[in-house]
Amino acid sequence: MIYLDNASTTKPCDEAVNAIIKALNEDFGNPSSLHKLGVEAEKIITEARNSIAYALGCDPESIYFTSGATESNNMAVNGIAENYGRRKNKIVTTEIEHPSVYETISKLEKKGFEVVRIAPDKNGEITAEAISSAVDNNTFLVSCLLVNNETGTILPIKKAFAQIKRDYPQVITHCDAVQAFMKIPLKARQLSADVISISGHKVGGPKGVGAIYIKKGIRVAPQITGGGQEKKQRSGTESVPLISGFGAAVKKHMNNFNERLEYVKSIKSYLLEKAKDCDEITVLSNDEASPYIITIAVNNIKSEIMLHYLESHEIYVSSGSACSKGAKSKVLKAFNIPEKYLDFTLRISICEYTTVNDINILLNTIKKGSENLIHINK
Ligand code: PMP
Repeated sequence: MIYLDNASTTKPCDEAVNAIIKALNEDFGNPSSLHKLGVEAEKIITEARNSIAYALGCDPESIYFTSGATESNNMAVNGIAENYGRRKNKIVTTEIEHPSVYETISKLEKKGFEVVRIAPDKNGEITAEAISSAVDNNTFLVSCLLVNNETGTILPIKKAFAQIKRDYPQVITHCDAVQAFMKIPLKARQLSADVISISGHKVGGPKGVGAIYIKKGIRVAPQITGGGQEKKQRSGTESVPLISGFGAAVKKHMNNFNERLEYVKSIKSYLLEKAKDCDEITVLSNDEASPYIITIAVNNIKSEIMLHYLESHEIYVSSGSACSKGAKSKVLKAFNIPEKYLDFTLRISICEYTTVNDINILLNTIKKGSENLIHINK
């Protein structure tokens, strides 16, 4: 099997699996219980919180666990609007957000908030100036992702947020950093972000767990109320096994962050070099994009057809979200990817386990597929 769909989800690493099993078998106490079993469970959460805070370069007190980045993004947007959107009503965001931000902001727009969505320019770029110059005295929230999940494009958020904080220090900055966390260098303070969303299953941890970083002093209104867990920020008994698995994955991957990044870069370069010799393939991701995500178009073979052909050879990629129920990807369109490619895109998302041989097999299978499939596609 060749798994090249790591932007959708990653295989949990052994450390995460072992931590989850241990927590299920041995540390099953409720972390709110006052007895020994509760205290042990609480210790596990603290350890995971410390690992994630270390990775993000922040105080552990600023990390709150959630059920995933979708919840973190909903909490960020709605919780900031609840507290800071009373006297001001403008939100600045981008056209290329993940739906968990995009749709949440759209709901607020329907309620009367003014929303400015920055689209990529004709070169497919969103500049820091485009974001910062949209902010004015009426703006209370700027929410932008750092790495786009469909193309791997890295946005100049650090520069944009720093400028915004200089011009309008009272504006709250939120960053969906799901595809950046543990993949490209990312530290909360350097990003000038007040709030950051991250997810467990994109970094070798389990699904159903994520976290939100909330800078000290920033008030994000809780969206799930109840027993007051996570210092009242997110009620509900903490999923000790999932949190423990998330922490173990982050701890493991922090140890080899730079080697991993360099290795993945070398695999991307290899893919790009080899793709030049394949007439069937056009690379759509730009060179500066995250090395973990490469979007390509395969000439004249619809994404889903090629995806299933590759699947029949046990190669797993994604259709680049190009064809959800036949609709073309809004994000790829926003990036000004030429219309002629939109039905034909594949997202190859690699990881530290991807080998040169995997890339050779992928490209050869795409070549063979292009020859074999061209007639069914018509
Ligand atoms: N934001 C981005 C950029 C993502 O890629 C994803 C996952 N596809 C999410 C948010 C949502 O994360 P989760 O699956 O943890 O809810």
